[in-house]
Amino acid sequence: MIWNPTKECMSRDQMRELQGKRLHKIVEYVYHNVPFYREKLQQMDLTPEDITSIDDIVKLPFTTKKDLRDNYPFGLQAAPASEIIRIHASSGTTGNPTIVGYTRKDIGVWSECMARSLTAFGAGRDDIFSVAYGYGLFTGGLGAHNGVEKIGAAVVPASTGNTEKHARLIRDLGITCIACTPSYALYLAETMEKMGITKDQIKLRVGAFGAEPWTEAMRQEIQQRLGLKGYNIYGLSEIMGPSVSYECDAQNGSHINEDHFFPEIIDPATLEPLPYGQTGELVFTTLTKEGMPLLRYRTRDLCSLIDGPCDCGRTSVRMTAIEGRSDDMLIIRGINVFPSQVESVVLTMEEIAPRYMLVVDRVNNLDTLMVQVELRQEYFNATMDTPAAIEELSKKLAAKLKSVLSIAAKVQLKAPGTIERSQGKSTRVIDNRKLK
Ligand code: ADP
Ligand code: ZN
Repeated sequence: MIWNPTKECMSRDQMRELQGKRLHKIVEYVYHNVPFYREKLQQMDLTPEDITSIDDIVKLPFTTKKDLRDNYPFGLQAAPASEIIRIHASSGTTGNPTIVGYTRKDIGVWSECMARSLTAFGAGRDDIFSVAYGYGLFTGGLGAHNGVEKIGAAVVPASTGNTEKHARLIRDLGITCIACTPSYALYLAETMEKMGITKDQIKLRVGAFGAEPWTEAMRQEIQQRLGLKGYNIYGLSEIMGPSVSYECDAQNGSHINEDHFFPEIIDPATLEPLPYGQTGELVFTTLTKEGMPLLRYRTRDLCSLIDGPCDCGRTSVRMTAIEGRSDDMLIIRGINVFPSQVESVVLTMEEIAPRYMLVVDRVNNLDTLMVQVELRQEYFNATMDTPAAIEELSKKLAAKLKSVLSIAAKVQLKAPGTIERSQGKSTRVIDNRKLK
């Protein structure tokens, strides 16, 4: 089934014409409403009149996460505060989160994109759909929720946590579809197995998995253990949230909602656009957004674009699975974590040296994070024989990390000089999860 054949199966010429018109409009809109963009365009000697077709996009400046941080909280917002009806936040590289405001129209577009995705996965009004992404500032929960209501299925806002209760609901209500991170799906499978809930006692048939990278091997494992078919859904808060792109039954890349988000691939070193088929950094321009429209936003996600018709009948450009990042962001239990966030915490504590290591692992299908830090020599000498002081310092560091990272980390305080020194480029992360 296709939710919106007019948009999802448009001819390429029509799509490019629509994109060109929308690009001109959005550039005009930010030029008049966002001083940040007006100044950038003026510096480049550009006016909205210079942007008349989608090919002109390469003339426009890029936007980065740093720009969002520098303009925290509302500097890039284009709509007046009175038009904003929802605000989400995602993690920033240090300190400030990224704030995204949505107008009523934006929420409508998001629900539409979500409805296209869920319909492509085979969900419909007869389904009972559990949303097990976190509800809250994170866009996963509420984003998926709106889409499930839009297609007329019954939404069960399970959120994350309380997995045993959730497992019982899946069995007792005959829940047929689930949206969650792929690693949570595996954790759920394991919990069910422990509880003695078997595949033939449940009716799950569709999984909408995203918010973190996953592999074909994970897909096979989840499908086998939960007895459903798993589909990829991709998105990021800065652009909208989940449903920027979605897989169809062909499962050969994810279709981008190109009438709303224009994709480009660039070489992250030279910033030059790359042709279809070549791997590079994914860049999006929002073509219809009112709250916080962004021009050529650098996602830092690495993938390639696939052109040409798809077996499903949709004509939109597809993106391959995310192969990695062009920055050092980690995704731990679906939460974005930057090593620099840990650094910002470590620097506030005088007992600790500015040297740290993040050790990420996956235990029983749940991501774990351990932060190792070195004590300063003076503090180490003074407390060597007082475990209580060490214990207290660990707790203090763990609490600070939790408030900055939004996830719990184990803390390991180490003697001075014991964290491995790297040759050349310093290594701050050991990721033992096997994603490949
Ligand atoms: P979301 O709420 O959609 O997870 P965030 O802004 O918190 O949004 O995180 C967005 C990032 O999460 C993306 O830039 C990408 O790195 C990662 N991500 C989201 N969906 C997927 C996916 N399906 N596959 C791989 N990575 C994903
Ligand atoms: Zn398709």
